[in-house]
Amino acid sequence: MATSYEGRYCGVCDHELGCGYFALSKRSQTLAEGPSSSVVVVSDDDLLTDFCGQKCADYAEAAISSTLTSPYPAADVTVPCSLCLRPVDRTAPHVFIAMTQFEDASEPWLVSARVVDERELAVYCRGCAEPRSTSNAFDESELGVAV
Ligand SMILES: [Zn+2]
Ligand SMILES: [Zn+2]
Repeated sequence: MATSYEGRYCGVCDHELGCGYFALSKRSQTLAEGPSSSVVVVSDDDLLTDFCGQKCADYAEAAISSTLTSPYPAADVTVPCSLCLRPVDRTAPHVFIAMTQFEDASEPWLVSARVVDERELAVYCRGCAEPRSTSNAFDESELGVAV
């Protein structure tokens, strides 16, 4: 049976992933204020690295946060950029890094994983990381085509 972690390896210890694993991702997101609740629009999702378990995820998290000026942004609408401390307005497109804990939920007919936990490690201003929108998320350079 195929699973969501099949053929994926830990970025720290090189072990094959099991049914409970972690993944570090970089995303462009816009917080759209709705009438009753705020809606998060994720326009792009780049998987950076997978981790086999809590220990390896913690190790990577510590390594990343040690390079940041202000890791673990608060849940406020405006937060300081994790690198340069310039204010980042979350209602405008911005890039963030998150560590997500997954649990494989694959069925014989569907490969899927459930999100157990997620936390933001960093939020970047436009000067430090350019957000990509849905319309131009397709990067032609990835195809080796000259633009
Ligand atoms: Zn590992
Ligand atoms: Zn910045």
